[in-house]
Amino acid sequence: MTATLPGIEVRNPVDGTVVGTVANQAPEVVADTARALRRHQPAWEALGPDGRATWLRRYRDWLLDNAERIADVVAAESGKPRAEAVVEVPAICEVLNYYADNAATFLADERVKPSGVLSLAKKLTLVRQPYQLVGVITPWNFPVITPGFDVVPALLAGAAVLLKPSEVTPLSALEMARGWREIGAPEVFAVVTGAGDTGQALVDNVDYVQFTGSTRTGQRVAHRAVDRMIPYSLELGGKDPAIVLADADLDRAVPGIAWGALFNAGQACVSVERVYVEAPIYDEFVARLTEVVGKLRQGADAGGFTVDVGAMTTEAQRDIVVRHVDDALTRGAKATVGGKPTGPGLFLEPTVLIDVDHSMSCMREETFGPTIPVVKVADAAEAVRLANDSAYGLSATVWTRDIARGVQIARRLEAGAVNINDAAANLFATTLPHGGWKSSGTGARLGGAHGLRKYTRAKAITVPRVSALKREPLWFPYTARRIRFVQKAFQFIAAHDVRRWVRL
Ligand code: ADP
Repeated sequence: MTATLPGIEVRNPVDGTVVGTVANQAPEVVADTARALRRHQPAWEALGPDGRATWLRRYRDWLLDNAERIADVVAAESGKPRAEAVVEVPAICEVLNYYADNAATFLADERVKPSGVLSLAKKLTLVRQPYQLVGVITPWNFPVITPGFDVVPALLAGAAVLLKPSEVTPLSALEMARGWREIGAPEVFAVVTGAGDTGQALVDNVDYVQFTGSTRTGQRVAHRAVDRMIPYSLELGGKDPAIVLADADLDRAVPGIAWGALFNAGQACVSVERVYVEAPIYDEFVARLTEVVGKLRQGADAGGFTVDVGAMTTEAQRDIVVRHVDDALTRGAKATVGGKPTGPGLFLEPTVLIDVDHSMSCMREETFGPTIPVVKVADAAEAVRLANDSAYGLSATVWTRDIARGVQIARRLEAGAVNINDAAANLFATTLPHGGWKSSGTGARLGGAHGLRKYTRAKAITVPRVSALKREPLWFPYTARRIRFVQKAFQFIAAHDVRRWVRL
């Protein structure tokens, strides 16, 4: 029997209108869906990487053909401006093409050279086989990109995929599932909708969990996964620092940091959340940043690319940002621009905060909103020390004309990615891993061969080179002569100096 739970209303954050209703699916529905996916997975795996890539390319074509309509759905349920909604589909198509083109290579069997006495007489092969069912849980900030970055490589790896999007923005994911159905692809990709309980049921029914969301929920998912002894990869929060050195080109650093902090209204795990500026250029940096941020256009986007900064997607998230701003202002910080929630709709003015310090919540907790706290530092060493003074370690940026010095500083930052003179650039570098350090995650999310292989299990296959041999040297019955021989051979290979070889 399937329990019927009340549906979930999806609202447009720009004006509060209801743009859709989805089912709040009970654990039994998740279990049924998982079982159905498992039935179809063996045939999907049997298609091989090239057969699967053919389906994914058809899927890409469907996504591109429906991109404008999907962008409408993304914008309506997230409140982001048109300019940001329209890049979501092309972004996942890029990842799709990369993995479709490379799946056969990344998943190919590998002949491995033996090393050691007992494996010398073996042919060794490393084989990669997919987990049967991969579960993907996603948050609300990028309703197509985030699920797409996980679903596409998992499908190409040969797994079936069960996706649970955020209950705040489930409509885009349902569009993605609709596309898969409309191209007539094998039934190995499904979406379940609902909140935390549905997510938990997903963890209980899959063989691998890819989770993106808050650190707290990520920990819950990890505990549950450990109880079930299934692997997981977590892409969690961030508190990304930007370091602006005295020799930075401010014509690039100022708009780069404004965008890095405020795209998607700051609701990105990799958004710039703290800025450390060397003293000689601090005043000029703050003045120019304030001017750029003050000119940004905010509001409801009628579709003509006339808005730069959209709405916050949820009221709860806006409350967090307001709390961070208020906490900073009451403890002596100043807003050089912005600082207030506005409406109608869930807006918060793009904000620059100065005179902030590391005792304030805006510098310690993930803000996930359109704020840019700026700190004056004496030198690069202080900037690095403060940048690393965080529980998070997702990514960071360094702004300087001296690239070698920038790279040197990048090596000292505790983060999974560092972009020099750019923000979020690593996200578009599909051939590099994308994963957080510290409380920002575990296991790289995607990028390179690992991004596909993570959805597979390694299997070692050994085959004797000489099949005529009736008995291996270590088999019963033990005899002094044979075991002595094996022992000496082991020791000969283990030793690395003449004295020990002679002694044998
Ligand atoms: P955000 O507020 O950024 O969406 P959350 O971490 O709260 O971050 O949610 C991320 C995703 O995790 C959402 O799809 C949510 O429904 C799901 N989720 C929430 N609680 C759980 C849970 N206990 N187990 C699995 N998934 C969950």
